[in-house]
Amino acid sequence: MENEKKPAIGYINKLETFGLVDGPGVRFVVFVQGCDMRCKYCHNPETWHNSDETIMQFTGAQLFKRAYRYKTYWRDNGGITVSGGEPLLQIDFLIDFFKEAKKKGVHTTLDTSGNPFTMEEPFFSKFQELMKVTDLVMLDIKHTDPAAHRELCGQDNANILQLAQYLSDTGKEMWIRRVLVPGISNDDEELKHLKQFIDGLKTVTRVEVLPYHTLGTAKWEKLGVPYPLEGVEPPTFDEIERAEAILGIPSQPRPKDPGISQEHLDRLMKGCN
Ligand code: SF4
Repeated sequence: MENEKKPAIGYINKLETFGLVDGPGVRFVVFVQGCDMRCKYCHNPETWHNSDETIMQFTGAQLFKRAYRYKTYWRDNGGITVSGGEPLLQIDFLIDFFKEAKKKGVHTTLDTSGNPFTMEEPFFSKFQELMKVTDLVMLDIKHTDPAAHRELCGQDNANILQLAQYLSDTGKEMWIRRVLVPGISNDDEELKHLKQFIDGLKTVTRVEVLPYHTLGTAKWEKLGVPYPLEGVEPPTFDEIERAEAILGIPSQPRPKDPGISQEHLDRLMKGCN
């Protein structure tokens, strides 16, 4: 048929069949290629460019067929998550992929930096279509101050905060995450601003602090890009606890040593933060 729409192709960096930290339950996690942010602490800089190094290409239907092989892992609360890189840069593929999932009643999670979000067309209509087949949005708020956000990530944050508000206004469940970078995103005033912002949202069901770490620096080296946070140390246990207290996150059992727990380590090694 001449007018038949071709299915969108998703450009994928890697797949994980048994993700435990990328949404509720056990998840099939898709890490897409491509991101326009340049977070100074990015631990997946190899996903920035949509280059020839991209190793996998799928339509939404093809990828869901592959994911669905693992459905016995998902039980009642697992499902699929798309992370990155930045999934919203491949929104046509994402809509197809999540639509396939919803045909089978599978839980869908979008893990996003929010950077591509705009209420302008043609993006906004597509985003509304995507939200009809998205159960949960995991959104990173890297800094609430516009100038500090630009300095940290190379991009403005107004549309990211607008996205959070839009999700709240439309009743979409979201988890909010903050990467805690000492000297950059962990001061009390900033965390209080973040708490105030989150308190104004109606659909946040979980808030997480993800301690900054330096495990991605070798990837920067490999890409030949100087690492911008050279010398910045991960937050201490007390700093993490302090941030969680300000954000109203219940205290969690952790080994009493500085740095990060295994669960946090797992999180940071995976999706877009
Ligand atoms: S941390 Fe996430 S949003 Fe930031 S540059 Fe890396 S992939 Fe992009």
